[in-house]
Amino acid sequence: MTLMFRMVEFERMAFASYRKAHPDQWRGVHGLWELVREASAAGELALAREDILLFGPPHERDLSVNRTRVTGVLGTSVWDLTQAEWRARRQMRQIAAFLRKYVPGFEHSQGKGTLLRQLPSGESYDIPLRCLLPQRVDRLTVAGRCISGTHEAHSSYRVMPIAMATGQAAATCRGSSGVRAPRS
Ligand SMILES: Cc1cc2nc3c(=O)[nH]c(=O)nc-3n(C[C@H](O)[C@H](O)[C@H](O)COP(=O)(O)OP(=O)(O)OC[C@H]3O[C@@H](n4cnc5c(N)ncnc54)[C@H](O)[C@@H]3O)c2cc1C
Repeated sequence: MTLMFRMVEFERMAFASYRKAHPDQWRGVHGLWELVREASAAGELALAREDILLFGPPHERDLSVNRTRVTGVLGTSVWDLTQAEWRARRQMRQIAAFLRKYVPGFEHSQGKGTLLRQLPSGESYDIPLRCLLPQRVDRLTVAGRCISGTHEAHSSYRVMPIAMATGQAAATCRGSSGVRAPRS
């Protein structure tokens, strides 16, 4: 069993330079054998795999990591599944620490802290109605967290007052028969 996870703020160019300098350490979507050996010898990785698999999602600075492995559990047992998830999450923490410390490109991944930015008094932002209209489904409007937006915008519009406002907008839009907003 494998629990995949994503690392963010990944520096693609730094990782590409490492691969170029160590052509024997990466093949297709997996590798880093030498660094895994080094971290294992230092007691910083204790996992049932000898390599790391990385997959690039569409976002430029994100990366999917496939490296956890849980063995000796039964997929039909709820107790085993709970234990597997617990073990996989412990592995995940180890792997994230390994990537940050050993692998070029991950030094600044997984940031911390909270950034709050207030709009200047009297200013506001709009949410275009097209964010509430799924592109390929007719006769459906969405509201709240489901609307279409960027990761950054989501951090603001996910809160209750805005979720309620988009709910009201969606209902008003559906209520006005024949009124559809432009999609672009
Ligand atoms: C711990 C926590 C603290 C928060 N604190 C604040 C705060 O202080 N202030 C603030 O403004 N915001 C806060 N938020 C954020 C805010 O509450 C949520 O983002 C917001 O309520 C999301 O609204 P929503 O309508 O998009 O989703 P939800 O409120 O999650 O509504 C989705 C609904 O869909 C239902 N559902 C799911 N699947 C189906 C299905 N298949 N069929 C039918 N129904 C289904 C669910 O049961 C749920 O009722 C907090 C969120 C969390 C988790």
